[in-house]
Amino acid sequence: KKGIPVMGELELAYRILHTPIVAITGTNGKSTVTSLVGTMMQLAGLKVFVGGNIGTPLIEYALEGEGCEYAVVEVSSFQLDTSHLFSPAVAVLLNISPDHLDRYDSYQAYKASKCRIFQNQGPGQVVILNDGDRALAQLEPGGGASVLRYGLSEGSGRCAYIKDGMIQATFPGKDLFRFHLSESILPGKHNYENIMAAVLVGMALDIPTERMGETLRTFRGLPHRLEFVGRINNVSFVDDSKATNEDAAVKAISSFDHPVVLIAGGRHKGGSYASLLEAAQGRVRQAVFLGEAQGLLAGSFEGKIPFSLADNLSDAVAQAYKAAHEEDVVLLAPACSSFDMFSDYAQRGKIFQETVERLRHG
Ligand code: ADP
Repeated sequence: KKGIPVMGELELAYRILHTPIVAITGTNGKSTVTSLVGTMMQLAGLKVFVGGNIGTPLIEYALEGEGCEYAVVEVSSFQLDTSHLFSPAVAVLLNISPDHLDRYDSYQAYKASKCRIFQNQGPGQVVILNDGDRALAQLEPGGGASVLRYGLSEGSGRCAYIKDGMIQATFPGKDLFRFHLSESILPGKHNYENIMAAVLVGMALDIPTERMGETLRTFRGLPHRLEFVGRINNVSFVDDSKATNEDAAVKAISSFDHPVVLIAGGRHKGGSYASLLEAAQGRVRQAVFLGEAQGLLAGSFEGKIPFSLADNLSDAVAQAYKAAHEEDVVLLAPACSSFDMFSDYAQRGKIFQETVERLRHG
């Protein structure tokens, strides 16, 4: 009202900074790709700031006087909502699936927020898009930035794809980059997408291919993202506490060749659980629901997949272990936020891991 501009810290930092920015957004995979890209650049000998929504805010780096060759930042839609001129040298948009519908008026409003990442880009800048994502395949960023698309299979206009069991990536003036998927430790097809996004950043920034390969072979993923916890009597326990929305939980369930006993629930964030049920059919032997969303989840699974209800996480782990057969995976992939019962996803994951540890020791 008084004509005083309102901006978020990302925008403020952007206006101060001279360091070129690689910005990564999407509904899921931001932290994984940000740290993968950061590791790749560090291994290539570059001095890089890695932060944003993942840890140290960009404004802190700006106020400390910069000093890096690149800033690799994880950017949330909430940060994009309060930016105006923000225009990264490289923008990465990983995927858009329904999330935070408790905060946005509609899915379209959420999508528009994510697209702000490339809105101000122009010639000489790069935007990397997941062409396999329904919301992004149709997208035609204007402004003149180079658009690099990737997807799980070869397709017209895609610079990175999977062929013959390898990630293959092309870039003008460079040799074809190839990486055997069997060499990566990261589970699930969604991680192939994450790798392709990181490879395209690497190619756009001229990272030597040997350093990219080395990073992909050694990167172990982040805690609480499909993290293997242990095995008890041939039942595996996997912590994907960071699966705080439906699509992440769907990807988690789809990452295993063995039947899954699913632990889900927490604070509902809007939307339905229809795609969770769809992914669960034929994969989930039994589910255990907890938290505020318990009733909604039970309503979706009723009559289709057996489930039980738990009062707390340790109760849920005990029920899941009881329901599991040898070779099954007990998977914590809540599809909900943690704030009804925990301070955050990390605390939820830690308690899950401690409970598994107690179960192991009898
Ligand atoms: P973000 O920072 O966007 O929350 P994370 O890397 O922390 O992303 O992962 C969040 C959740 O999403 C985890 O459950 C993880 O297993 C899952 N995930 C990671 N990458 C993807 C992807 N490309 N598509 C869907 N789910 C993903």
